[in-house]
Amino acid sequence: MFIGHWAPAFAAAALQRAPRLPVLVLAAQVVDWLFFALLPLGIERMRVVPGISAMNPMDLYHLPYTHSLLGGAAIGVLFALACLGFTGNRRGALIAGLVVLSHWALDWLVHVPDLTLAGSPPKLGLGLWNRPAIAIPLELGVIGAGLWLYTRAMRPSAMRLAVFALVLLAFQLVNWFGPPPQAVTLSLSLTALAAFGLVTLLAWWLDTSTNLPRAGLAIDARRG
Ligand SMILES: [Zn+2]
Repeated sequence: MFIGHWAPAFAAAALQRAPRLPVLVLAAQVVDWLFFALLPLGIERMRVVPGISAMNPMDLYHLPYTHSLLGGAAIGVLFALACLGFTGNRRGALIAGLVVLSHWALDWLVHVPDLTLAGSPPKLGLGLWNRPAIAIPLELGVIGAGLWLYTRAMRPSAMRLAVFALVLLAFQLVNWFGPPPQAVTLSLSLTALAAFGLVTLLAWWLDTSTNLPRAGLAIDARRG
């Protein structure tokens, strides 16, 4: 899953005392930030195996840290503790931690069995990447629902929302229909990290157009 990962971030940003949107957008993909950082170091590994699933030619054969449920939970706890340290907002920290954990659950829906509970088999994944007629509407549907919940609660600028949604859609279309990578290279990791970074920046830009009092990362002003 790619842009669908940000759906829980948008839904959670509409909750009272939630962290700000860019923090949650980072939380939703921090697992993949780490994966693409560990990939060039050889700590986690994938390879190109055309046809391994209908929609994704990457064989994600060694993801014991970032894409195990245990690893995801540990990353969620660390992320939540960082939020707590910066803001003192316990409820916001819990929300951010749960958004981190949502990454594994959404990946489980689409990945062919390559996820684990704690780093070793059994390998898990429902495999909707082999069912594009389900996976494509699912991914667009969940991010659409997330954007709708956020918009209803936070009333961002319509122009910025449209730009943001179009950028997400463009990234997803390239991901689905662009030329597949021929090899796992450093530039593949850098491209993925740049895309995540750009979406996080755009989330900040979108969030600054909402009508709430600005309070940095401390969100107590959002109550009521
Ligand atoms: Zn992932």
